[in-house]
Amino acid sequence: MLILNNICEMDSEAIVIRIKTPLGDMDSSVDYPSLLNFNDLLVAIRDVMPEATVTAFEYEDEVGDRITVRSDEELKAMLSYYCNTMNEQRMNGLLPDPLQIFPRAGKTPGIRNIHGLKVNTRPNPANDCTNAVQDSIANNSLKKSSAELKRILTNGQINAQDILYQEQLGHGNGGTVYKAYHVLGKRVLAVKVIPLDITVELQKQIMSELEILYKCDSPYIITFFSAFFVENRISICTEFMDGGSLDVYKRIPEHVLGRIAVAVVKGLTYLWSLKILHRDVKPSNMLVNTRGQVKLCDFGVSTQLVNSIAKTYVGTNAYMAPERISGEQYGIHADVWSVGISFMELALDMFPYPQIQKNQGSLMPLQLLQCIVDEDPPVLPVGQFSEKFVHFITQCMRRNPKERPAPNNLMDHSFITQYNDGNAEVVSMWVCRCLEERRAQHPQ
Ligand code: ATP
Ligand code: MG
Repeated sequence: MLILNNICEMDSEAIVIRIKTPLGDMDSSVDYPSLLNFNDLLVAIRDVMPEATVTAFEYEDEVGDRITVRSDEELKAMLSYYCNTMNEQRMNGLLPDPLQIFPRAGKTPGIRNIHGLKVNTRPNPANDCTNAVQDSIANNSLKKSSAELKRILTNGQINAQDILYQEQLGHGNGGTVYKAYHVLGKRVLAVKVIPLDITVELQKQIMSELEILYKCDSPYIITFFSAFFVENRISICTEFMDGGSLDVYKRIPEHVLGRIAVAVVKGLTYLWSLKILHRDVKPSNMLVNTRGQVKLCDFGVSTQLVNSIAKTYVGTNAYMAPERISGEQYGIHADVWSVGISFMELALDMFPYPQIQKNQGSLMPLQLLQCIVDEDPPVLPVGQFSEKFVHFITQCMRRNPKERPAPNNLMDHSFITQYNDGNAEVVSMWVCRCLEERRAQHPQ
């Protein structure tokens, strides 16, 4: 496979390519843009437009002129141009737009071939293609799911032997998270390693349940790269967030919390749209970086994984909604409660139920959490916080789940709309300042 080198800083981060098709947009995250070649992308386009004969695609330059891409050289030029645009947008405090490409479709072979002969439109499999691409060529007539499409564009899986472990980032109820370096992809990762003594059958089930993570493609959800079992441990590789999780930050000012809340609500709304409940919303599962991005992690997509971890670690999560603590049925509204209690804790810098002492982690004996079921929910003190914020928390923490805001009501809440201004710089500056303070207090 031809490898494109030196596409400015692209080695270090994923980009989102938006394929514009007549039926709508198709977004895909490309984890290693420098490894992408023209053929890979063409195959991916053909998979979303199986009826068309796509031989090239176009992108728009800064004045809106369409530039055609037909070769690796031209692809390299497009990626360089996009990298510069991304940098400029960042310098202006904006989140980069996806790279938009417009497939150039000719007539279908059926129409062009007046003799009624069958035309084999498959590219030559002897080409410089990866296995993943060859697989996809073999099934060219079938419309691929976005999960498969994503795998084509990510240039394969991450393997255990290609990972260099660096420092330990933290230890949770399930496992240990390490900062690591993926040698092949030349990027930093966060790898969560969870020991699990389970059968090979269960391992397979977990791996197939995790497949849905390839489909998650949102700026508010941590990017999933790969998962694999080695002996009795599963390793889950995701994007590394250099600001870490929110649980280690001191009292967060309201104007920063507002921007964080917007990202959390957008991330959850995205998951809910895929029919995924997060089930573990809490400050340690909200990650930030120095670019001012806020992303959710550790949502429960694999029932088997959640169940297997629960067998080792007993206890009840203190951020759970009252209906979950008392073992009733629950839905989206339980995630909404957890948003409320998490943001209340982040604003006050203490767990909102003073009688609950969270010493280590968030798992507690069930009896200690009974007060969440029995008592009126706590309310933020007006005077210290804006009325909009106090109202937002009060609504999210209504004891009756049906009285909590539904997804669209959450997005429309005045606290959220007030801070939905796309200003990533506020969070970015705050994260950078806190990290500097931490460094000054604990010099290496
Ligand atoms: P739980 O096991 O219930 O989710 P937890 O969230 O505290 O509890 P882990 O998920 O194991 O524990 O995470 C441990 C710590 O690792 C987090 O608190 C966070 O600081 C860090 N961490 C996790 N994922 C990342 C990441 N992608 N980037 C940077 N740091 C991370
Ligand atoms: Mg976690």
